[in-house]
Amino acid sequence: MDPVLYSKKAYEFSAMIFDEISGNEEIIAYGMKDFLEGENDDIIGRMLKPCKRTLLHSFIENFIKCIFEYYRRKQVWSEFRSLFESVDVDVPDWIPDTEAMEDFDFELPNDRQKDELEVILSISIPKIVPSVFRILFSDRNFLLLFNEKLKECRIEEIGLYDRLKRRKIPKWLEKGILYRDRGICQFCGHDVSGVNNPMVEKHYDHILPLAAGGCNDPTNFQLSCGKCNRAKGKKVLKNPQKLEIYW
Ligand SMILES: [Zn+2]
Repeated sequence: MDPVLYSKKAYEFSAMIFDEISGNEEIIAYGMKDFLEGENDDIIGRMLKPCKRTLLHSFIENFIKCIFEYYRRKQVWSEFRSLFESVDVDVPDWIPDTEAMEDFDFELPNDRQKDELEVILSISIPKIVPSVFRILFSDRNFLLLFNEKLKECRIEEIGLYDRLKRRKIPKWLEKGILYRDRGICQFCGHDVSGVNNPMVEKHYDHILPLAAGGCNDPTNFQLSCGKCNRAKGKKVLKNPQKLEIYW
């Protein structure tokens, strides 16, 4: 996997998804319910067992597709241009930039051009998903909201609740969480990386506990010391993530 780039577009999509999940604003009519109903890529399997393509990856991809359906209906072609540019994909000349749109100085695309647009869009969206994921996955407050929404909307009748068990966490996920949480317990701030004390207990804690309806998607894990993890138990700790200032 190549490293990802931050871009203005990635921040825009992150903010829109944040608003949708936190219920601030309904800009685009695409929510968790639509996701769970529309996505057929083994959602249940991925709730049971951590998978590298997380439910958040899929949500982001479907959300962006939905945004572009809206832009297509409203004929906002300049948004296609700005997405393509942000992921370094060649932009067809006929797509107007914002200024041309304002001048009404362009012709509407013909069918061949629209087909071309769909092809480029299908290449571009998967390219920006990892950047948006990188931004949202770094925010554990958002991840708690995301997992609460998943719990609220998930399909109860399949008996998922009983099948959700604690699983051995794969090495790639341990590494990812350790890196994101900088080796420190997310509750008390103690170093659990093992760099300073090889005997320290390191726990991969469910942000939304299994007993409270959480699942095993990678978005639902955080680093914790043994003491905090045991004290937390089945409680959902509202521990707003506080970030240290640089200076
Ligand atoms: Zn702790």
